[in-house]
Amino acid sequence: MDHQTQHLLDELQALKAENNYLKEQLLSTSNNSAFSNQSPEGIDHFKTLADNFPVVIWTTRADGSVDYFNMRFYEYTGLSAEQALDWGWTAAVHPDDLNAATEAWNRSVRRGTEYEIEYRLKRKVDESWRWYLAKGIPVKDSEGKIVKWFGANTDIHEQKEAENKKDEFLSVASHELKTPLTSLKAFLQLGEKKVSPDESAYVFIEKARQQSDRLQMLIANLLDISKINAGKLIYDKAEFEFDVALKEAVENFQLTAPDHHIILEQGANVLYNGDRLRIEQIITNFLSNAVKYSPGKNKVIIRSQIHQENIVVSVQDFGIGIEPENLHNLFNRYYRVDNRSTQFQGLGLGLFIASDIIKRHNGSFWIESVPGEGSTFYFLLPINGKQELIDIDTDNQTYYIGNFIEINYNPEKKQIESNWLGYQNYDSVKKGCLIMLDLLAKNNCTKVLNDNSYVIGNWSEAVDWGSDYWFPAMQAAGLKHFAWIYSPSTFSRMSAQKSIDVILGQITARFFTEKDEAAAWLDAQ
Ligand code: ADP
Repeated sequence: MDHQTQHLLDELQALKAENNYLKEQLLSTSNNSAFSNQSPEGIDHFKTLADNFPVVIWTTRADGSVDYFNMRFYEYTGLSAEQALDWGWTAAVHPDDLNAATEAWNRSVRRGTEYEIEYRLKRKVDESWRWYLAKGIPVKDSEGKIVKWFGANTDIHEQKEAENKKDEFLSVASHELKTPLTSLKAFLQLGEKKVSPDESAYVFIEKARQQSDRLQMLIANLLDISKINAGKLIYDKAEFEFDVALKEAVENFQLTAPDHHIILEQGANVLYNGDRLRIEQIITNFLSNAVKYSPGKNKVIIRSQIHQENIVVSVQDFGIGIEPENLHNLFNRYYRVDNRSTQFQGLGLGLFIASDIIKRHNGSFWIESVPGEGSTFYFLLPINGKQELIDIDTDNQTYYIGNFIEINYNPEKKQIESNWLGYQNYDSVKKGCLIMLDLLAKNNCTKVLNDNSYVIGNWSEAVDWGSDYWFPAMQAAGLKHFAWIYSPSTFSRMSAQKSIDVILGQITARFFTEKDEAAAWLDAQ
């Protein structure tokens, strides 16, 4: 049972104890097989239940406009039904949360997917803002058409406060732990110098020093997390030679993992402007995971190379690997693939911190993995701070050639054929998609052969834009059949699948692994 459900049940329990009358009503209702709306005493069960429930309950029409709130909402916000119904409720939402709340709601209504978002609502009595978790589900008729939405807003203010307190505590505690640890390390270093390596005590001091290094890393991670949460992690960017930094990071790491053979294959011999220490931190994190999650295997390969004006670093291990369904969660805070947590120590913070560092350098990250065979963790950093999208040639009517995509109109088959090249991100996907839309409309096409065979990496940040704006625009421009040839890259496939999952309307989209099959399917349409 999740936290929210537990919370709701607790509240319901408390309400039941307080209100015996309602309890009787509830019991008599559940014993009554007919479950009629009106009790013999003339009480409307559902209305009584909804109005007394300790959460805000609402329903909306198919278009997302609210047609009912329970009493709780009116009491809490002080709004009248006249003010709140339809879209008036937005007046009670905190201005900083309003955009995200309405955008998410519009998206759910458009896609017909469940709604879940947190926002602050103003309480009338003391004019305070309290955090609520809003959840809504669509209700469909027998033909699968959405006819209504049912939802509830649960007060999660206390949980939010507790979360903030926890973050604050983490920050203070890790600061406080740092000082004594620094002197402990200094004393151990002194001890190491005073004791000869032949003495038995030397081994103990050495081991104590190694453990204090681990402790220092854990504390540094906790401190980073609290800074990231508070938006206070400062990046100190300067120019440095990338491969020199990489080599040093690998050499330093190798000292801490003498039983492993770390093979370094370098090819990113460029000047890069970034926070060197933070980038070395990503490398160290990937390497220590590679070592940690490959028991019994001692080889790790780390590569750097330049691709389309990007530095791409990969760390490959031959260890336990990761199941595909766990891949996309790995960069979340505290996430650990659970069944292994007891076997391998860790807090689940390293990759979350790495993802923040990478994002703050306008980069991206992804993983390729085969369970039981090993994983390769990648990160990409655009050398100029931003991926360069270069136009090579176009006639603005039948073709476009860029360094990230080629698009052609095939007059024989009356279809658009697009071929995405290499690394993609939000900007490249958006630009390529808009050109495709333009050529589709200009040539009155209904079919697209979209080839992702040469796509590498992760473009997940463009998924929402693709499904919310681009596919509907393509449909409006006449698109009917969309054949999508998968990328071999797992993260790219996941993004493709996600964009398609939510397409509504007249477009039929299909995934293929072979281009011939995709072309044959389109021909048959
Ligand atoms: P930690 O290793 O401290 O748990 P990380 O954030 O570095 O935290 O990693 C998160 C999770 O990702 C790990 O708990 C593990 O389940 C998984 N993971 C990371 N690297 C690898 C790897 N090379 N092979 C298999 N699983 C990995």
